[in-house]
Amino acid sequence: MTKELRELLQVVAEGNNDLWNETIEVSQKLLKGGYYGHDADIENLEEREIKTGFELERVLSQGKWYWQKEEVQNIDYCPGCNIAYCRGRYTTGQCE
Ligand SMILES: [Zn+2]
Repeated sequence: MTKELRELLQVVAEGNNDLWNETIEVSQKLLKGGYYGHDADIENLEEREIKTGFELERVLSQGKWYWQKEEVQNIDYCPGCNIAYCRGRYTTGQCE
């Protein structure tokens, strides 16, 4: 994930903004990763060069995303080390 995208997602994920709750929740999900298709979702977002939370919200509310399929289940097993909630992936997006 690019630094710019990560920073934007972090700001949005903290809440405290005028965005929809869903946008905030999805940003948290995108930061956390660990679901099928996460890489593809991130690539998709990176290609769009999103600058603001409102742009992010617009993009997330359109199109098809893998996170849409992951609303319920989801223990976050890291594909790298197979540990639930791998700390490296949570903090930097990369398995340690
Ligand atoms: Zn890991």
